[in-house]
Amino acid sequence: MSHSIGLYLHIPFCRRKCAYCDFFSGVGTQADFDVYTRELTEKLHYWGQQAWEPVGSVYLGGGTPSVLGTKRLCALLDAVKNDFSVDKNAEITLEVNPESGKALDFDALRQTGFNRVSVGMQSAIAREINILGRIHTPEEAAYTVKKAQAADFDNTSLDLMMGIPLQTKDSLRQSINFCADCGVRHISSYILKIEEGTPFYSNRELLNLPDEDEQAELYLFAVDYLNRLGYAQYEISNFAQPGFESRHNTLYWHCGEYIGIGPAAYSFYHGKRFHYARSMQAFCDNLLTADGSGGDSEEYIMLALRLCEGLVFADYEQRFGQPFPALLHKKIEKYAKLGLMEADGQHACFTPKGFLVSNAILADLI
Ligand code: SF4
Repeated sequence: MSHSIGLYLHIPFCRRKCAYCDFFSGVGTQADFDVYTRELTEKLHYWGQQAWEPVGSVYLGGGTPSVLGTKRLCALLDAVKNDFSVDKNAEITLEVNPESGKALDFDALRQTGFNRVSVGMQSAIAREINILGRIHTPEEAAYTVKKAQAADFDNTSLDLMMGIPLQTKDSLRQSINFCADCGVRHISSYILKIEEGTPFYSNRELLNLPDEDEQAELYLFAVDYLNRLGYAQYEISNFAQPGFESRHNTLYWHCGEYIGIGPAAYSFYHGKRFHYARSMQAFCDNLLTADGSGGDSEEYIMLALRLCEGLVFADYEQRFGQPFPALLHKKIEKYAKLGLMEADGQHACFTPKGFLVSNAILADLI
């Protein structure tokens, strides 16, 4: 029995660029969408001939996949199913943004095989959405979720952001309540990062950004409040009702293999990491850059510790054929005493407080 892999398709188009975003995406025309859909279909065919493993999850992300419209999205999933051996129970996610997602034909998408919809909202407070430079209302996000649910998408997710300028604990609580009232099964909640080269970066002094302590307070509040509403934290930034954890993303954190197709898409396949450049032309020319071998013990530890289940020592030992290093056990004990990690004889994981400083701890561990 072979292990299954994940498949990620990057859709590098958005209606408008958000002020904080450094993903590879830009505004496109209908003609651009047609050309890109054809290009992606060709690449799918190419990769389908290389990959013999069953595909356990497919994820169309971006950018904003919903800008392509129902017909192109269904055509892409049909191409995936023609070229790969997709598991009968595969998780097939479509990322949508409210401004374009609300016009999709979710019945057709569901019939073609999509079974999970992730809606990018970031906040349910109109003022915060505007500050982020996004072009939808919270009502459009709720409408999009309802429309997907009415088309038999039981597995829906909403994205939130923490640390938005002028955001308060109370406004974050309102956003979380809004998501819960929409009846989504899954909520992602990320701390805003100010990336170089974005308008947010240029204007960072003027933005009224929360400082680190305020950010930490928002994060710890969200973890606690989401848990109380039945969305258990399962990863540093992800929360779900039981059984609705994202299988595709969990594959990344378990150091599983996947093929990413699209400009700036990353892959880990047959033990090698590689990626397409951040350029449409380079993608069309099939230019791949090798990132070396992947899945070594350091990477494994780093990824596993993103998950709340953490690092299971027996899994580590089985994978690498050697005991978990004694020095690391000692260091983990030290952080456990500080309330930043938890550890027993079987596993180790970060506490919510530990997640906030996980980069520094990981730098010490590995
Ligand atoms: S919609 Fe998403 S990918 Fe597009 S610009 Fe905004 S944050 Fe970036």
